[in-house]
Amino acid sequence: MNKKNFNSLFWKISAVFFILLAVVGCMYIYISIDYSNKYLDQVNQRLNHDTAKNIVENSTPFYNGEVIKPALEEMFHHVRAINPSLEVYLVDPKGKIIAWYPPERKISLSAINLKPVLEFINDSTNKLIKGDDPLYTNTKKVFSASPLTMNNMLYAYIYVVLTSEKHQAASDSLFSNYMMEISSRTMLITLLATFFIGLLIIRVITNNYSKIITVMQKFRQGDLTARVQLQSTGDEKQLGEMFNEMADILTTNIDKLKQVENLRRELIANVSHDLRTPIAIIRGYVETLQMKEETITAEERKSYINTVRESAEKLEKLVNELFELSKLEANQVHAKKEPFIISELVSDIINKYQLIAKTKNISISTDLSKELPPVYADVSLIERVMQNLIDNAMKFTPEGGKIIIKTVKSGEDNAEIIVSDNGIGIPENQREQIFARYYKANNFTDLKNSTGLGLAIAKKILDLHNSTLDLVSVENSGSSFNFKLKFYNMN
Ligand code: ADP
Repeated sequence: MNKKNFNSLFWKISAVFFILLAVVGCMYIYISIDYSNKYLDQVNQRLNHDTAKNIVENSTPFYNGEVIKPALEEMFHHVRAINPSLEVYLVDPKGKIIAWYPPERKISLSAINLKPVLEFINDSTNKLIKGDDPLYTNTKKVFSASPLTMNNMLYAYIYVVLTSEKHQAASDSLFSNYMMEISSRTMLITLLATFFIGLLIIRVITNNYSKIITVMQKFRQGDLTARVQLQSTGDEKQLGEMFNEMADILTTNIDKLKQVENLRRELIANVSHDLRTPIAIIRGYVETLQMKEETITAEERKSYINTVRESAEKLEKLVNELFELSKLEANQVHAKKEPFIISELVSDIINKYQLIAKTKNISISTDLSKELPPVYADVSLIERVMQNLIDNAMKFTPEGGKIIIKTVKSGEDNAEIIVSDNGIGIPENQREQIFARYYKANNFTDLKNSTGLGLAIAKKILDLHNSTLDLVSVENSGSSFNFKLKFYNMN
């Protein structure tokens, strides 16, 4: 197993789990030892509760308030007979140690605290009470105690330390053996079983996460179809679903980008073709003019110069429209809206077209609703839309044709502007595409003045006004484009 795998969620959780288990295990051992000690002490104290009383009942080493040495020795002799491991102290009513057994032991305390002693003597509940161990300054031990009285006079206390050093040593060694047994068997088995069951559970939980990671890796390596499929519920499922949604969005965006990229390539190909054609024409005619300067007639020269001018105009138109569209697509154009009367704008535009219509023998007329309230839009942008639509109508309507521009009320809030012609119409299967930039329908062979950008620009401008450009066209009998503009709301 390599280093990377040890970094996985499974191993991390397992390590934390193991540490927790070890800490809990130690705490468990500590608490068990503590309670076992208390338990042993309490058993010891209860079993030997009356030891001091027995000693007192058997001998009284006092006469006239004075300690009688032989009687004391006899008492200690009696103690040795009962239990040689006991430590016995004769303590005066103030707690001062008068004598002790075994006498060869060196004591560290000259007096003991009588509070636990009195508590022991007066206690009827057999609870665990610990008192001073005179051999050490700071050690508390279980004991038995009894007052030594004569003629209702308190002479002293007999104070017996029950867990004497000998007793302690024996119990310690037994206890450690016992604890070893417990820990080596019960504890170890319990801890190991818990650890392995825990690992198993962690494995099951982290397994779903591993599955998600595997799918993510696949996706990262380029398999865009990789998706998470989990049976489980809960967080992992949510995570998987989130990843799937994210992957869906990413793949859709990648597809869109690919489409855009394809369109861009197509556009560049089209644009360079359309730029190259007029440039080639200009160059060709200019070269001819230079080479045949002496030989060509004035008539021919005029015609050549006309062709050069037309090509230059086309070039200029194409470059301008491309620039305009790219600004619109980059959201660099903002509609400066203001209220104006749409019929007035239409009349103004029509006036500009009358002359050119006359030369093409096309009739251009209007049908304007007089009662329309002012619309709220950017005048110059809407003028541009109208121009593009009328330009097209003029372009695609043969001599003797008719163009009508109509304004009507549409519902409560909108004015509708309709530009119709009775020209060549648009084939049904191309009616949607003509709004795409650079699209030219194959209804028209003379593409001299055609850039394929006019409708795309108009559509973008209407987008800025939250409006759409719609088309009704019947092939061979004409086309009708319409769009709506919102009335100005004075409130
Ligand atoms: P352009 O007119 O410069 O080619 P447009 O984007 O304005 O570019 O128009 C795209 C195409 O839609 C035109 O090439 C033409 O095929 C078709 N079209 C637009 N308006 C009309 C119309 N009034 N009648 C017939 N065809 C039209």
